[in-house]
Amino acid sequence: MEFRDLKKQYRFLKPRMDEALMGVLSSGQYILGEEVSRLEEALAAYVGVRHCVTCANGTDALSLVLMAWGVGPGDAVLVPDFTFFATAEAVALAGAEPVFVDVRKDTFNLDAADLEAAVRGVLQEERLTPKVVLPVDLFGLPADYEAIEEVARRHGMKVLEDAAQGFGGMRMDRRAGSFGDAATTSFFPAKPLGCYGDGGAIFTDDDAVAERLRSLRVHGKGTDKYDNVRVGRNSRLDTLQAAVLRVKLQAFEEGELEAVKQVAQRYDAALQGLPGLRTPRIPAGYTSSYAQYTLVLERAQERDVLREVLAKQGIPTMVYYGRTMQAQEAFRNLKSSRTCPVSEELTGQVLSLPMHPYLTPEDTKRVTEVITQFFRRRRP
Ligand SMILES: *Cc1c(COP(=O)(O)O)cnc(C)c1O
Repeated sequence: MEFRDLKKQYRFLKPRMDEALMGVLSSGQYILGEEVSRLEEALAAYVGVRHCVTCANGTDALSLVLMAWGVGPGDAVLVPDFTFFATAEAVALAGAEPVFVDVRKDTFNLDAADLEAAVRGVLQEERLTPKVVLPVDLFGLPADYEAIEEVARRHGMKVLEDAAQGFGGMRMDRRAGSFGDAATTSFFPAKPLGCYGDGGAIFTDDDAVAERLRSLRVHGKGTDKYDNVRVGRNSRLDTLQAAVLRVKLQAFEEGELEAVKQVAQRYDAALQGLPGLRTPRIPAGYTSSYAQYTLVLERAQERDVLREVLAKQGIPTMVYYGRTMQAQEAFRNLKSSRTCPVSEELTGQVLSLPMHPYLTPEDTKRVTEVITQFFRRRRP
């Protein structure tokens, strides 16, 4: 069993995929071009926004938005303490300071009440200007944008949605990638929608920002790339990756997203109610695209034991995340540190199970049987 079986996915998509790739190889167009424009149109339509601007990866996508907004030294960007490093890294790369906010125990997502407290802290200190809130749609579940946007509005901050894991998730009738003033995603192979290398995208309804982003991703180009009107980056999507993504987006819409939801339902049905174990909670009105299916073990000391028991049965698991952002060496010398007790506690309790659209009912049964037995044996 694989944690995320990309080889199996390729076997399903092979005829369509090979044809798409061969088409690019013989076209002679290898960076941007028609294939990329068509992908951007399809992605914008799927997410429900006016503009999609693709780029080299999900980290660059965050960086490009911060550049386009002019975020830099003296600015505070509020980010969850429990996320993948890139969220906060992009902030530091922009020269701004990440200020860490705790997450909610039930959804793993940014806690709007702690966000308010963090903003007040920044304002009181009078060293930084709170400019942007950067919530993450962790593990495929959109954050609580209603509450977050309310706090952001009150303090004149922009909202940047990090939907690197959120693609395909929903809140009410809106898809991940459509929240805030802009959103980003990643097409790293293991994400809900992944390519065969690195790739990323930005979503926004703001025409002026979209135009600036199209310039920034090609060396700050004006009319062409030899007319440079600002300092930008080299961050474009390869044409081959766009071709891969067009095939994969179709598969995602045709059944893969539905399939991961069914895998989650099977896990839920078998694991819900085991004492000492919490299955993912999806609040009413939300859907998750299950970038991860993450369990919380009440007793931290049981997590690594269960992990080993599963490994012995050939079942791979991952710990997302075993360390908070503030516990990372790279952020040791930040001036504004905050205590985020929920994030810290979660790092010892979380365990992500194999999750992908091609997991069979036999696969999930094997996983849930080992876990059920583990808890029965330990708690007679
Ligand atoms: C993967 C990820 C990123 C970065 O995406 P890359 O394409 O790997 O650069 C950013 N934020 C989160 C939450 C991620 O999971």
